[in-house]
Amino acid sequence: MSIIKTEGLTYVYGEKTPFRKVALDNVSIEINEGEMIGLIGHTGSGKSTLIQHFNGLLKPTSGKVLVDGEDFFADKKKLREVRFKVGLVFQYPEYQLFEETVEKDIAYGPKNMGLDEDEIKRRVNEAAELVGLTKEQLLKSPFELSGGQKRRAAIAGVMAMEPKALILDEPASGLDPQGRDRIFDMLKKYHTEKRNTVIVVSHSMEDIAKFADRILVMNEGKVFCFDEPPKVFGRSREIEQIGLAVPQVTRVINKLCEMGYDLGDDVYTVGYAEKQILKKLNKVQI
Ligand code: ADP
Repeated sequence: MSIIKTEGLTYVYGEKTPFRKVALDNVSIEINEGEMIGLIGHTGSGKSTLIQHFNGLLKPTSGKVLVDGEDFFADKKKLREVRFKVGLVFQYPEYQLFEETVEKDIAYGPKNMGLDEDEIKRRVNEAAELVGLTKEQLLKSPFELSGGQKRRAAIAGVMAMEPKALILDEPASGLDPQGRDRIFDMLKKYHTEKRNTVIVVSHSMEDIAKFADRILVMNEGKVFCFDEPPKVFGRSREIEQIGLAVPQVTRVINKLCEMGYDLGDDVYTVGYAEKQILKKLNKVQI
């Protein structure tokens, strides 16, 4: 069952101006309920423009966007509903924290949805637990938290709205390696427990390769490919040609293939690389 579907989606910035720019060009994709999607492409490939169509922040110049099978632009009431169905976490969301306490900040979205106090409390506690914030931290001012904790608090605010699809734009940007790992571990936990759709925008194949069920690669406003990781990395040379870095382990394996060691063209994790290399070594029996 699809949660987000686009049909021939085209978006043009500055139509009828000298700055006219086709940011999305005939994009037709279908994202299913419960999928974990990685959205990748280099700067200017159309990633942000695309995700802003998923909850109605942008209206297609032509083509359609369907959420839960509905064309929400056809009905004003549906446009409000879609903001709750599809939760968007922008880059550096911590800049939007403003309440006196972390708890109030996380409760802001659910409160806007008109939920009762008990339900709001349940959601705030569950979201805090999912992102790894303690009860004491909930009572602090957001400004007393570390950078990584602030980021997680802001993400919890969107999770607490229990969107059917959660979309995050570069959720780990600007964090140190430990902070990055915490964010991705947290998203994996959220996805495993809630089974809701998660879409993560990133420019790092390395990060995306670790968790995505399918990877959507954008290039110059068009879908370059949208497939499971082994199939995407099977095209690693083409991906490098459009200026994206494939995971380091894929580059090493490709190099070994060029040197005559046939290790397959779909290696993108260290574990699988190890298996393929050991298989080869056993065959040549050293
Ligand atoms: P990405 O998120 O992959 O970096 P964007 O969706 O931000 O890509 O941008 C796609 C294209 O649209 C780029 O060429 C960018 O310069 C252009 N663009 C983005 N936002 C605007 C805007 N507000 N006005 C004009 N052009 C824009």
